[in-house]
Amino acid sequence: TSRIVLASRPQGAPSAANFRLEQVALPTLAAGEVLLRNRYLSLDPYMRGRMDEGPSYAAPVAVGAVMEGQTVAEVLQSNAEGVATGELVLAPGGWQTHAVLPAKALGRRLDPAGLPLSTALGVYGMPGFTAYSSLHEIARLKAGETLVVAAATGPVGATVAQLAKLQGARVVAIAGGEAKRAYLQTLGVDVALDHRAADFAAQLRAAVPAGIDVYFENVGGHVLDAVLPLLNDFARVPVCGTIATYNERGVGQPGPDRLPALFSQILRQRLTVRGFIVHDFNHLWPDFEREMPQWLRDGRIQYREDVVEGLENAPEAFFGLLKGHNFGKLVVKLD
Ligand code: NDP
Repeated sequence: TSRIVLASRPQGAPSAANFRLEQVALPTLAAGEVLLRNRYLSLDPYMRGRMDEGPSYAAPVAVGAVMEGQTVAEVLQSNAEGVATGELVLAPGGWQTHAVLPAKALGRRLDPAGLPLSTALGVYGMPGFTAYSSLHEIARLKAGETLVVAAATGPVGATVAQLAKLQGARVVAIAGGEAKRAYLQTLGVDVALDHRAADFAAQLRAAVPAGIDVYFENVGGHVLDAVLPLLNDFARVPVCGTIATYNERGVGQPGPDRLPALFSQILRQRLTVRGFIVHDFNHLWPDFEREMPQWLRDGRIQYREDVVEGLENAPEAFFGLLKGHNFGKLVVKLD
């Protein structure tokens, strides 16, 4: 079997030298364990954080250990009660072709006759639930309000944009490049913008004549800079991700200290700026499980996937994710 381990910790942007592809024999199963064949591996921005040492909301991957990741997997062998050979499951299967896990680590069972299996890693999985739950808990949109979201062709952003439309908001969706911008228009958003345009800040200003009530923060960086002056009093800012600075450990480039101005703005405008991790809202999962499959089946929520073939191509695809080379939810199809 093949697996990819963290070979070293990156300084700045990760590179091929930080990963190592290894061939290993399968261990035998202990009591309560299952052997999985991973079919799809999810690649997600949070994995950049797991490569770094130091305090975060989750422990780092140890050097020499298999990179973490959610997988859609098939049970090849089971030494555990209640898990049958041939079942399809969501699992913390990691960057590898096979995994041995305690049965209690397995996630939900997947129905082979249901939605496409890979959606369990995207729109009908962690990223889709991120969008659904944080909109509900933090954004609290009212019809007619204006929401802005970037990384809007990805699984979080695209779901945010479409849910906000369903909730009656005016939606300005932002992505990198003309192809992504054109795709956003097919999702029915009010305005689609390319954040790489030279006059992006002016375009954004023109797109929000009534200001911004909700800024769904996925990216930070120059998009956040353009958004801040346009926020309305009492605007809500769910802070979901700041991918523009993941290679800088969230610190950013040296420059003038803008924290006092930011805090002053938060106070003057009574902004709600709230960070969250998707698990904070697990109580909403039953609602998501009831609503999302229906929305997907009736086409009210659309999604796009970027499928890369072969475990050996995971590192390169992951580097691309941090630079916007992916177009839709990035998954690796394993043979
Ligand atoms: P995406 O598939 O949207 O991929 C990330 C995208 O970020 C890229 O495709 C790129 O899109 C965009 N991007 C990268 N660098 C920049 C930059 N400098 N400026 C602007 N945009 C940039 O990923 P996801 O939908 O999986 O995740 C979106 C965000 O949500 C991430 O920040 C992620 O960390 C966060 N997240 C947070 C969770 C939580 O619990 N808090 C859970 C899940 C995700 P483009 O080409 O359009 O610029």
